[in-house]
Amino acid sequence: MSKSKSYNGCVLFVRFLKLSSLNNIRNSTTLSMSTLLQPYRPPEWAKELQNIPSSKIQLANGNTPIYRWNLNGLPSEFAVSIKRDDMTGSTLSGNKVRKLEFLMAKAISSDCKHVITCGGIQSNHCRAVAVCSRQLGLQPHLVLRTDISNVDEVGCKGNLLLDRLCGAKIYLTARKSPYLTELKPRMEALAKHILETTGEQSYLIPVGGSDTVGLFGYISVFEELLSQGLHEQFDDIVFACGSGGTAGGLAIANYLTGNKLRIHGIAVSDDANYFHHHCNEMIKSVGLNVKSQDILDIIDGHKGQGYGISTQDELDFIINVSTSTGILLDPVYTGKAVKGMVYELNNNPDMFKGNRILYLHTGGIYGLYDGTIDNTVLRSSSSTNYVKLWTNKTDLPT
Ligand SMILES: *Cc1c(COP(=O)(O)O)cnc(C)c1O
Repeated sequence: MSKSKSYNGCVLFVRFLKLSSLNNIRNSTTLSMSTLLQPYRPPEWAKELQNIPSSKIQLANGNTPIYRWNLNGLPSEFAVSIKRDDMTGSTLSGNKVRKLEFLMAKAISSDCKHVITCGGIQSNHCRAVAVCSRQLGLQPHLVLRTDISNVDEVGCKGNLLLDRLCGAKIYLTARKSPYLTELKPRMEALAKHILETTGEQSYLIPVGGSDTVGLFGYISVFEELLSQGLHEQFDDIVFACGSGGTAGGLAIANYLTGNKLRIHGIAVSDDANYFHHHCNEMIKSVGLNVKSQDILDIIDGHKGQGYGISTQDELDFIINVSTSTGILLDPVYTGKAVKGMVYELNNNPDMFKGNRILYLHTGGIYGLYDGTIDNTVLRSSSSTNYVKLWTNKTDLPT
């Protein structure tokens, strides 16, 4: 069934399958994009899983390209290609929108008017939630971890600019707040408060969107990868691991399709123990009987000074990659992961199943705008600091 209708001068085209969602979106006056709430049909190999989401909403630009990536410093026996999941969208860029296709569908089909989630102050996940909540007519609430305790100092750089432009309600909490004992109870208290004061339901998304619902984001990306020739062209997949949902989805999908590749998540927060524990929970929640340790390789040692903290080497590496290949990495996730991958290819080549490596670029572009890298870009000796005044067209600047 298809409906076409004009709101606020914008034409919207929506295919509805559930009457409740139909009413939900019809009542919205803010929707100005094409949305598709569709029943989710898992691939044949995932049919036996438990807790398969019933619907999906199209938010990402799928079929992101894959091509060869001639990174500096690679050993000659390896060929690295890149899957551009930083191109899943502009304001929705990165891996989080893949999970949000399932999470937001659940929010809408549960009649929620609010979405509450949490993360670091520059969280890409929170920014994606802020943007797509508004695209779907929902109110975003973000519990953000930071050292800043004065709300006037928080500013609006990087992801935070997009959060604020989308009118997300932002609640600051201490940077060290653990998820289970601090963030989750706060999100629950907020949802209770919203219900009591407005009568409206909230949908809660855990850190990074990495729960049983979000897990299906990268299970379905694996299906996309297969259609792009994954089995024929690659031996290993490498990516940045931050909350474990990307790792879990890829590892489970690879396991279900015959373990043809090896899946490597480079830890940029926590450590291998933490991620295997979390992935084991996700594996159990979809009814599988396999150990994370047997289907997923989490690589420690590349977190540097810690989550969200950059070293000069890491910042220099990001600039080396952008000036030599035109691929932009971010300081929190992909910069550390690619640097780690190059290190491991050189120092531990045996940990890879073969020599055809697919690096999954998980996004993070707005993290580059938080100011961290500015001084490095402006350093006088840097290739990024070639700026000359050209006053007269006849005098070549030297
Ligand atoms: C969140 C994020 C990751 C980590 O993905 P998880 O599924 O949370 O492990 C990697 N890269 C970027 C840019 C991210 O925003």
